[in-house]
Amino acid sequence: MLVELIVPCYNEAEVLPLFYEESRRVLDKIPGYDFGFILVDDGSSDGTLSIMKELSQKDGRVKYISFSRNFGKESAMYAGLRNSVGDYAVVMDADLQHPPALIPDMLRAMEEGYDCCAANRTTRSGDPKLRQLFTKGFYRFINKISDVDMPDGAGDFRMMNRNMINAVIAMSEVQRFSKGIFSWVGFDTKWISFEDVKRAAGETKWSFWGLFRYAVEGITAFSTVPLKFAIYLGSLVSASSFIYLLGVIIKTLIFGRDFPGYASMITIVLFLGGCIILCCGILGEYMAKIYIEVKNRPIYIIGRTNIEKPVHDYGRNGR
Ligand code: UDP
Ligand code: MG
Repeated sequence: MLVELIVPCYNEAEVLPLFYEESRRVLDKIPGYDFGFILVDDGSSDGTLSIMKELSQKDGRVKYISFSRNFGKESAMYAGLRNSVGDYAVVMDADLQHPPALIPDMLRAMEEGYDCCAANRTTRSGDPKLRQLFTKGFYRFINKISDVDMPDGAGDFRMMNRNMINAVIAMSEVQRFSKGIFSWVGFDTKWISFEDVKRAAGETKWSFWGLFRYAVEGITAFSTVPLKFAIYLGSLVSASSFIYLLGVIIKTLIFGRDFPGYASMITIVLFLGGCIILCCGILGEYMAKIYIEVKNRPIYIIGRTNIEKPVHDYGRNGR
């Protein structure tokens, strides 16, 4: 049985050697399995690639894939999975926020017959307060309106069997939202929890704006409720304006015509204008998704690798 650790790395030169040592220490103690590393360099500019090369020379089990530029963590995970050949794959961060010490527990779950073992964080104390608040709200919202179930704290840290890996690979959308994809494909998943830890070295690659974009991405990728929201909003506004209209007619019939009304008029016009622009924005968000998806650009482009026959992704046209 071959188990591969898929590790997306973006400017992780500081922490990558620590990650390697720590996970090797854990893996060496697990009997009965072969292990491999697929380190994906997501266009780093800080010597991450040279560390990967060093590691691969020291340890034949280390494979690396280096992108031609930064494509994002989602692309890196996808590239790792497409290039994996093992029976099981574990997706994990390089910063030791996903403790390798959980791998034996994950293997045990697989032995019990699960297709997947996912780890979720019980707390988010390693994150800043504002970000914790924002993430909580996001999960509550997305679980309400989308057709997939995403537990709060569920990161990408999980072990999957070949069957599930193939299913995840088959979801070849360009705009990937792994949390949704993992949940969408289904399979028997065992959840284990772990204590939150601060990253071992270096710093987070997420900005607040980046996270916000990611949240919008997740919502529009797995829910069409915002589109329906336009219908509800439209109906509500039409219904209330009809009632208002009746009121105006009755008032005119009883009290005759009177002219003042500039304030209510401008309020209504502005309110309606706001609703229309909001709905256009929602439509635009989905249209942009369709636009990117039909262009069908590759999800990643490999610049360098030590894999003999790497699996490229040149879109549906060139596959
Ligand atoms: N990462 C990546 N490409 C990016 C950003 C991040 O491959 O564009 C990797 C990063 O190297 C790390 C993982 O994704 O291994 C998680 O990133 P980070 O620790 O910055 O995120 P956080 O833990 O704060 O959510
Ligand atoms: Mg991290």
